[in-house]
Amino acid sequence: MNDSTQRVAIVTGAARGIGAGVVARLAQDGMAVAVLDLDEAACQKVVDTITADGGRALAVGCDVSDPDKVEAAVARVADELGPPVVLINNAGIIRDNMLFKMTVEEWDAVMNVHLRGAFLMSKACQAHMTQVGFGRIVNLSSTSALGNRGQANYAAAKAGMQGFTKTLAIELGKFGITANAIAPGFIETEMTHATAERMGIAWEDFAKYMTTQIPVGRSGTPADIAAAASFFCREDAGFVSGQVMYVAGGPKA
Ligand code: NAP
Repeated sequence: MNDSTQRVAIVTGAARGIGAGVVARLAQDGMAVAVLDLDEAACQKVVDTITADGGRALAVGCDVSDPDKVEAAVARVADELGPPVVLINNAGIIRDNMLFKMTVEEWDAVMNVHLRGAFLMSKACQAHMTQVGFGRIVNLSSTSALGNRGQANYAAAKAGMQGFTKTLAIELGKFGITANAIAPGFIETEMTHATAERMGIAWEDFAKYMTTQIPVGRSGTPADIAAAASFFCREDAGFVSGQVMYVAGGPKA
């Protein structure tokens, strides 16, 4: 594809982990990619890898829970890369605690990044998608949506992502826009390393135990999630919408 026909994607929380893996895959699929995260300098490192491989990419510092910053970030992507017609709502945080100890701040922080962030980003990007008559939205849910001890906030947010996804699919389908969700199981990233640390378990022991619960007998990688995202974003995947794909090495992790 040349610059005028090349699809432009925004991946949030893309400075590392699953987001960085998805960016690499979408660039490999031929898209121009906006690498969006809180720290623009961290995004630039991911951008440099893509441009070194001949791809087009842009580093964008943005807090997805801030309406003004989201508006400005999406406008900048449209200006510098082209209309964003692919959006991967991946930015995420955990603030785990048992319900009786969970603070209002821990609850709100998780809701703000996952749900408010996905809402703001989707609203800003759909304006471009509806104009182009094509769009792909992929939201990161989690197997935690099915319930997970110590994660009342995160589980609620990730279940919320599923309802949000299905509603976007219903509202936006007539504009050529699909919305789907990926619910990863145990993926090796800084987020899961932080979980092990908080639980006071050595990473090797934690990963070994988690792997015993996974039918395919290994933990997941960002590339595993990127492969699913790549599928949902394909030009010929336009009849797949409102779905939740568990990518967990089995029916669930
Ligand atoms: P990660 O390594 O912690 O990466 C998340 C990224 O999101 C970080 O770079 C973080 O930036 C960024 N971020 C946080 N708040 C943000 C905000 N307000 N605006 C913009 N960016 C923000 O996590 P991951 O494991 O790759 O997870 C990616 C997504 O997959 C998340 O939605 C997560 O819930 C979901 N998921 C992960 C797993 C897993 O096993 N890893 C399983 C199921 C679902 P900072 O570092 O600067 O905070």
